[in-house]
Amino acid sequence: MCDMTRREFMAGSTAVLGMISTGGIRQTAPAQAGKVDKVSTDIFFHQDEEGCNTGWVILEDYVLVIDANFPTGAKQALPQIRALTDRPIRFAFDTHHHGDHVYGNQVFVENGAVPVAHTGVIEELRKYETGYYGGQPGRWEQAAKQRPDLKTTRLKPPSVLFPTELIFDDGKHRVELVHLGVAHTHGDALAWLPKERILFSGDTCVNGPYNFVGDGNVEQWVKTLDAARKLGAQIVCPGHGPRGDGDLLGDQQAFFQALRNQVGKMVSAKKTAAEIQRALDQISAELSADARIARFVAKTELPAQAEKVLMEMTGTRFPAAQRPGDEARVRHAHQHGLYHSSRIELEV
Ligand SMILES: [Zn+2]
Repeated sequence: MCDMTRREFMAGSTAVLGMISTGGIRQTAPAQAGKVDKVSTDIFFHQDEEGCNTGWVILEDYVLVIDANFPTGAKQALPQIRALTDRPIRFAFDTHHHGDHVYGNQVFVENGAVPVAHTGVIEELRKYETGYYGGQPGRWEQAAKQRPDLKTTRLKPPSVLFPTELIFDDGKHRVELVHLGVAHTHGDALAWLPKERILFSGDTCVNGPYNFVGDGNVEQWVKTLDAARKLGAQIVCPGHGPRGDGDLLGDQQAFFQALRNQVGKMVSAKKTAAEIQRALDQISAELSADARIARFVAKTELPAQAEKVLMEMTGTRFPAAQRPGDEARVRHAHQHGLYHSSRIELEV
């Protein structure tokens, strides 16, 4: 995907709609970024460009929010929800521990909600949000240096936790919060609405060049996407990028499979880490040539993604002196509120 296409893609749905007509990619992108998108009766999606996407379901007696975003994003979502219903916002479900998904929790807590998450989110928060848990400054403190909205708020970890699933069912709508395995992080969960066949996927599935792999495991991610595909979603509301149809999960999975195939081929051919690093342009070109997965490819992010895959396969990293992945990782981490040192450590 060329730079211009990617910029347009990230700016809104115009380029995506263009891709539908020119590339034959089956995507539904009826909503414009920044506008509230009614996905179905009582089910809403808001595509955000700055933080993460947010969803909400209006149940009989209360509202369930899906992903809290940063505080600025949460404050943007509140009046959008209020314009639709005066039912209380009771729960804010965090799909995973990243700042662009949980840092807005306090805004919802102040408005009467309880943050809810898979137990793995707390384990991840303990690992990375060391400042909150009484240790060295962690990701929140680092992100607060860049984000004024974090200077006036504080981290509110989820206090209602579920080990594998938690179900909300008012007889009309059913929302199943499910942990399907390790993917983008070690604590991902998704919100599945079986009646409407709508899946809010968090960052387990995105729609565009947004895959940050530093906290997850790409090999397991592919398997977790298998489990997600088995749900049979017809509409997928991703953590970043416009919403898509059920094929979006397969496209996301195909991107990681192709990336693993590319790196795996070179590992099998006994190429060194340095040789694989030098082949990144070639890998990028191969991935971008596949219309189904081209929109997930970002030349700036590929080094970190390829290095992560290499680490999972062989335990080796790219040569430190010329590791282009670091810059991409730090920039991406800034966007996700993850930045916590001069370099983000990769964990397999
Ligand atoms: Zn994330």
